[in-house]
Amino acid sequence: MPQRISRGYDKQEFQRLSLAALLGAGAHTLVCWLALQWGFFALSPEAFFLTFLALWFGHLVVWSLACLTLRKGGDARRFTEPVLVWSTVALLISALFLSDHRLLVMVFFLAVLQIGVFRVGRWQLVRLALLGVGGYALVLLELQSREPSAFNALVEWQHWLLFTLAVVLMMVLALEIVGIRRRIDGRNEALQQMARQIRDLAIRDELTGLYGRRHAMELLTKACGQARRGAYLLAVVFVDLDHFKTINDQYGHLIGDRVLIRFADLLRRHLQPPALAARMGGEEFLLMLPVDHREQARELVERILVALRKEGFEDQPGLSVTASAGLVLASAGEEAEQVLARADRLLYQAKQAGRDRLLEEA
Ligand code: GH3
Ligand code: MG
Ligand code: MG
Repeated sequence: MPQRISRGYDKQEFQRLSLAALLGAGAHTLVCWLALQWGFFALSPEAFFLTFLALWFGHLVVWSLACLTLRKGGDARRFTEPVLVWSTVALLISALFLSDHRLLVMVFFLAVLQIGVFRVGRWQLVRLALLGVGGYALVLLELQSREPSAFNALVEWQHWLLFTLAVVLMMVLALEIVGIRRRIDGRNEALQQMARQIRDLAIRDELTGLYGRRHAMELLTKACGQARRGAYLLAVVFVDLDHFKTINDQYGHLIGDRVLIRFADLLRRHLQPPALAARMGGEEFLLMLPVDHREQARELVERILVALRKEGFEDQPGLSVTASAGLVLASAGEEAEQVLARADRLLYQAKQAGRDRLLEEA
C-alpha cells in the first residue's frame, strides 16, 4: 500500500510555506484596502482595521502553534489544514463586505488550493474546495437576503458559477497530483528502506547481526577521539571464545554457528547503548563500553562471562562455552589500533593463564 503522506516539514520547507502565507495574506489585505479606498468595501475604516486585525491575529495563532510544534521536533504538517481553512475564512469574510468584484478576493482561493495540493491529503483538499465553493454561495445568499434590491443576482451567481468551475477543474488536476505524490512518497519510502538494508548489509556481520570488523574500527576510532577529548572513559574489551575449534570438531560447524549467535544475543541483552559489541571475525568479539570508572566495565564483562558459562544448549546438554577477555581503558592521545593491540595482548595472557577469565592491565 502506498505510504500516507506523513513526512513532517523540515525547517526550510516551513520557512517557504510561511513566506507564501505571509505574501498571500499581505496581498489579500492590500486588495481589500484598495477596495476600501476606492469606495467598494462596505466597512468604515475603523471596522476595516478591526476586522483585519482579527484576521491577522488568527493567522498568527495558527502559525505560532505550527512554529512551536516544529521547534519541539513535532510534525508541523498537521497545521497545514488549519492554515488553509483560516485563509479561506478570511477570504470569505472579506467577500461579504465587498460591494462588487467579489471575485477579486475569491481568486486568492485558487492559490490557497494550490498550496494544499502539494501538502495535504485528498480528503482534506476536497473539504477545502467545498468550504471555498459552499462558503462563497453562503456569502451570496446572505447578501441576497439582506438587501435583495442592491444585489445583482445574475452577475453575482454567474461569477460564483465561474469560480466553482475553476475550482472543479483545479480539483481534477489536484487529485491527480495528490495521487502521483502518494505514489512517489511510497516509492521514496521503499528506496529509503532499501538503502537502510544495504547499509546494514555493509556494516553488519551476517551471522550474528552485530557490527562487522570494518565498521567496528570506524566506531572505535570515533569513540577513542571522543574519549580523548575527555567526554567519558572508554573501556575496550577483546573477547575470544575458548576452544572454539574443539566445539566445532565435537559438535559440528552448525552448532558452532549457533554458539556464536547465542553469544551475540547474550551481548545484546547485557549492553545498553551507547555500549556496543562487534564481531571482529571468527569467534572474536570487541566491546566498546563508555563508563564512569573501570570497575563498572569490569563488573559488566564478568557478568557476561558468567552468563555465557551458564548458557544451556537444549539439544547439546554436554556443551558448555566459556570465553577469555582482555580489558583496557583508552588513554589520551591513543589510536584505535594501539588500544586494540593492548586489549589483544591481555586476551592472549588470559588464554595463557588458563582461559575463562578477564584480565586487566595492572
Ligand atoms: P582458543 O581457546 O585459544 O581461542 O582456541 P580456539 O579453538 O577458540 O581458537 P582457534 O583460533 O584455534 O579456532 C577458532 C575456530 O573458529 C577455527 C574456525 O574454524 C572457527 N570459526 C571461525 N569462524 C567461524 C564461523 O563463522 N562459524 C563456525 N562454526 N566456526 C568458525
Ligand atoms: Mg578462541
Ligand atoms: Mg580466536
